[in-house]
Amino acid sequence: MSVIYDRVALIGLGLIAGSLAHAMRRRGLAGEITGHARSAETRATAREIGLVDRVCETAAEAAEGADLVILAVPVGAMGAVAAEIAPVLKPGATISDVGSVKQAVIEAVGPHVPEGVHFIPAHPLAGTEHSGPRSGFASLFDNRWTILVPGEADRAAVARLQAFWEACGAHVEEMDAPHHDLVLAVTSHAPHLIAYTMVGVADDLSRVTDSEVIKFSAAGFRDFTRIAASDPTMWRDVFLTNKEATLEILGRFTEELFALQRAIRTGDGEQLFDYFTRTRAIRRGIIDAGQDTAAPDFGRSHGEKDAEKDAEKDGETGDGKG
Ligand code: NAP
Repeated sequence: MSVIYDRVALIGLGLIAGSLAHAMRRRGLAGEITGHARSAETRATAREIGLVDRVCETAAEAAEGADLVILAVPVGAMGAVAAEIAPVLKPGATISDVGSVKQAVIEAVGPHVPEGVHFIPAHPLAGTEHSGPRSGFASLFDNRWTILVPGEADRAAVARLQAFWEACGAHVEEMDAPHHDLVLAVTSHAPHLIAYTMVGVADDLSRVTDSEVIKFSAAGFRDFTRIAASDPTMWRDVFLTNKEATLEILGRFTEELFALQRAIRTGDGEQLFDYFTRTRAIRRGIIDAGQDTAAPDFGRSHGEKDAEKDAEKDGETGDGKG
């Protein structure tokens, strides 16, 4: 495949940026990849493993002259990074991001984007609970969705970014920001909070010893622990910036939980059966849509590293990692 952007700058060199670097190299999508991370330690690791072609000391240095700049830092850091690089962005360049929340990123980044620069927010619905410059891999986005939130952006620039994500392996769909944030609250953000809570509950429960939790965790709990191992900074920012949608979904969740709780107390087996039949159909729909595997244990029992990664990269789809 041929070069789509001559120069791509990755600001933040963690899981998502690292995976993008690998995916770009897999198909030769960028002439040069520059990158910057906040800490000297991450920059040193990125240099050591050759993650990008040039690791820069500042975000501005990495972004200068780039045709595509992708902000891959936690959502709460996007605004400050955009302010820092804005003066060096070249006319005609595209600035995008990979943040898990879109409305807050648009509000934080939008005001800094100079005239003549295309701002096209994006969100790949793929991830793992791992973070840092060593955690990325080229196939992370394969057959996963990337949502573009282009608003009024130039259509030629949007088509180019779409081609870029497709060449990275993703399917692409457009949404507006409020809808994106609501969809993700249902499929990812609320499930993460529930997983964090469930793991916290097990930790508090003194009747179940730690060794039992670990030993018997195959029965569903193991997936919760994997989700609950996700990066605390990233998820703190997700909940602080997608507050309204997440609270709306959690409100509905609580109501349904109370209804099921009552059904258990009153012995209403019919209600439980009907409810589980409905949710089972949703799971089948996800498998039919090719977003997960029907294999027992989510295909993870093969013991292959790739199978493990496949299972992990359910990332933000709400059915695996959340
Ligand atoms: P990550 O592996 O933790 O990497 C984050 C990167 O951002 C690191 O290079 C870090 O630098 C840098 N950074 C952190 N705080 C910063 C700050 N205040 N200013 C400047 N740089 C900062 O995270 P990730 O999983 O790649 O996530 C990056 C973005 O992708 C987030 O917005 C997240 O919402 C989104 N996303 C994540 C997933 C997922 O499942 N992980 C999926 C889709 C989208 P240091 O290493 O030097 O600290």
